[in-house]
Parts: sequence; C-alpha cells; structure tokens
Amino acid sequence: MTFQSLGLADELIKAVEQTGYTIPTPVQRQAIPAAIAGSDLLVSSHTGSGKTAAFTLPSLNKLIDRRSAPSAGPRVLVLTPTRELAQQVEKAVQTYGKALRWLNTVCLVGGAPFFAQVKQLQRPVDVVVATPGRLLDHLNRRKIKLSDVEVLILDEADRMLDMGFAEDIDAIVAATPAQRQTLLFSATLDGVVGRMAERMTRNPQRIEIEVAKEDRGQIEQRLMFADDMGHKSRLLEALLGHEGLQQAVVFTATKRSADELSLSLQEKGFSAAALHGDMHQTQRNRTLDRLRQGRIGVLVATDVAARGIDVAGISHVINFDPPRQAEDYVHRIGRTGRAGRDGIAITLSGPRETGLIRAIERFTGDRLEVHTIPGMEPSPRKPSGPRPAGNGRRFGNGGGYGRPSGGNGDHRGAGGYASRDGHPTSRERSHGDRRDRTSRG
Ligand code: AMP
Repeated sequence: MTFQSLGLADELIKAVEQTGYTIPTPVQRQAIPAAIAGSDLLVSSHTGSGKTAAFTLPSLNKLIDRRSAPSAGPRVLVLTPTRELAQQVEKAVQTYGKALRWLNTVCLVGGAPFFAQVKQLQRPVDVVVATPGRLLDHLNRRKIKLSDVEVLILDEADRMLDMGFAEDIDAIVAATPAQRQTLLFSATLDGVVGRMAERMTRNPQRIEIEVAKEDRGQIEQRLMFADDMGHKSRLLEALLGHEGLQQAVVFTATKRSADELSLSLQEKGFSAAALHGDMHQTQRNRTLDRLRQGRIGVLVATDVAARGIDVAGISHVINFDPPRQAEDYVHRIGRTGRAGRDGIAITLSGPRETGLIRAIERFTGDRLEVHTIPGMEPSPRKPSGPRPAGNGRRFGNGGGYGRPSGGNGDHRGAGGYASRDGHPTSRERSHGDRRDRTSRG
C-alpha cells in the first residue's frame, strides 16, 4: 500500500514523499482513511508507530482548501502530555503542511514566555499544539477561543491522565464545539482512558495496533544485576565507555538523581547532561539540540522529560533505576532503535528491584537476558523466588559487554542496597524526592 491510496491531497502526499517515507505504517493505513471519512477514532498505538503522521495528515487534509479567518480560533487542536512532544508534533505539522504556505501553527507549552504566546495568538492560527496546563491558562484568560475547533486530537491520552490532566482536559474539551471530530491516541484504551474516550467521542471507530514483534526486535533488551549503588555506578561507567556506544539515554527515577548522576559522569570525563522537569524550557531545548548535534554523549533523564525524544544516534538506553511503572519501560527503550536502526536497552537491577523487573517482563511478554561484565559480576545471593526457567543463565554475546560466566544466577532476595556515590537509596528517594511530574504544561 502507498500513501496515494489513503485519500490524501496531492500536496500532502508530496510532503510525505519529501520526508522519504514511501509505505504507510499500520496505524497510518488504518487511521488516515477513517479520519478523512470523518469518524471519531480511538487508536491504541505506541510511540514509534508513526502515529504523529496518522493524525497530522488527515487533519491537514481538512484544512487544505481554506485558511482560518483572521478573528477565528484554531481549527485543529492537538493536546500532548509533554512540552517536548508538543514541539515535535508542531514540527511534524510544519513538515507535512509545507505546501500550505499560509499555514500558521502555535505551540503553547509551559516554561515558555506566556506573553510571546499571546502575541502569536493575535495572528490567524490554524493549528495549535499544546500541553493542557498552559492551554487552560490561555483559555481562562480569554487569550484563545476554541469555538472554531474542527478536529481535536488527544495524543498519548493515557499519559496525560497519568500526569493528572483529566480535569484540565475536560475543561478544554468543554470549550470546543460538540460537533468536532475527535481523534484519541493512547497506549491503552482500557480503564480511565476508555471512560474518558466515551465522554469525548461519538460512535468512534476503534483501531488497535499491535506492536509488531519484529519492530520491537530491533531493540536488544538486557538485564544486569548489581549488588548496590556503587556497583551500579561502576557498571554504568563500563557500559558508557564501551566502543560500540554512540549516544545513550540513562534513566533515573528522580530529578535529583538525574542531576547527581549527570554531574558525577561529567567529573569522570563523560559528555553528560541532565534533562528533567525542573529545568527551564530553554535549557531543556538547548540540551536536546546538543543531543541531536551529537555534542552530548550521555543524557541522564527522567521519564516525563525524555518522552518523545527522537534522535537517531541513541544506540543505548540504560535504566539506571528500573521504571516504577512497566509501561514506562516501553517508552524508555523506544528512545533507541530509532529510524530503523538497532538499539540496546540495558536495565540495571539492584537486589530490591527484581519485582519491578518481573512486572516489566509480564507487561512486555519479553524476557530480559541477563548479562554480566567480566570482573564485575554481582556477588552470588540466595534466590528468594523462582525466576522462570532458563532466564537466569542465558547470556548474550552481542555487543561485547557480556560473556558467559557461570554462577550469575538470580540476585533477588534480601540484601542491602546501600547509598553510595551520593545516590539516594530507593527508600530515601520515595520519601525525599518527587517523581518527575512537573514538565507538564
Ligand atoms: P511517531 O510514532 O509518530 O513518534 O513516529 C516514529 C518515527 O517514525 C518518527 O521518526 C517518524 O518520522 C517515522 N515515520 C513516520 N511515518 C513513517 C513511515 N510511513 N515510514 C517510515 N518512518 C515513518
């Protein structure tokens, strides 16, 4: 199937061709014709599936013959959970809408100057991409009207709800016309997302995109056991020093540990930088630009801040702290293996984190292969519960990090997870530091 057969205007097909894409992805094949036909859509799809084009192209198709009237509000509104994702979506709208020379887009996210955004809203605007918090600020101060919205897109709806945006979204949706078209994209359509979808859509068409095994197969998933924080830090340094590593994103559980770890890596000579929600937006943008330019080798990030990062040079994702929520794992490892390249995702597990590893394996259905670095093996411990057969003794040999080394069984069970190198223990963290929730708009 080609893009020509999806019902898109020639101008848009040309723009897609210029990006080099020739074959629509599964979510694009299903969502684009359905959206052009006018249906509301509930789409379960993951980051990396091509979902941005799946909602951007049919929305632009609607705009193609007519620009917004000078005093009108936006005709297309996209809500995203994070600032980075909003900026990336705006870029996609500009790329695919290149032929619509009059097209005006505005990105409304927190952390950016409010009045500069107000000024942008004084021109005719066709597409607004926003995080819910900042958009609601503009709406409450009557700086934007949403009564001309024809297409409302909720991107990563599950994530927006996770981040506590439910009320903001309800208020925003209430300000849009009831007869709008609504396209909701989410990793899951169950539970709270399903209930929100019911409130916001009319006779929606449901499109569920399975993540193809072969697509995920581009990312090799590894697990390394560590005795304590000091051991984790040594493993991390060894991994980062490996010659096969181009650029890496290292995930930590908290903003504080992202800062501390980035600093400690800089002191050891790595070109490291932190990215988290407490940083000013201009600083975050600058960091991401330097990452894209290859001037940063190691980005130490929290979950929310790293969402949507699409940099082809990221060869490795390292979970210094395993994610507390299994679905975050999928988003994290999706930062590597971009643009059809291979990637390696390594999760470091302390003795008290094996429950999180099991949750990840249950969620993805994938086994994480246990690896060791010769000379840095974890000390043997008594297993406290069975890890399903075969896993604890499989050793990868790709990439050269690990070699079979007998005795590397499971290392869960009792055992101190001492605070060293300035990194807090998981217990200290849960009491003393907030999860990264503040990069919301
Ligand atoms: P997304 O799921 O929207 O974050 O897209 C993931 C990546 O796939 C982005 O780098 C897109 O530029 C790219 N992409 C989108 N559509 C296609 C396509 N039809 N063929 C190949 N790559 C694509």
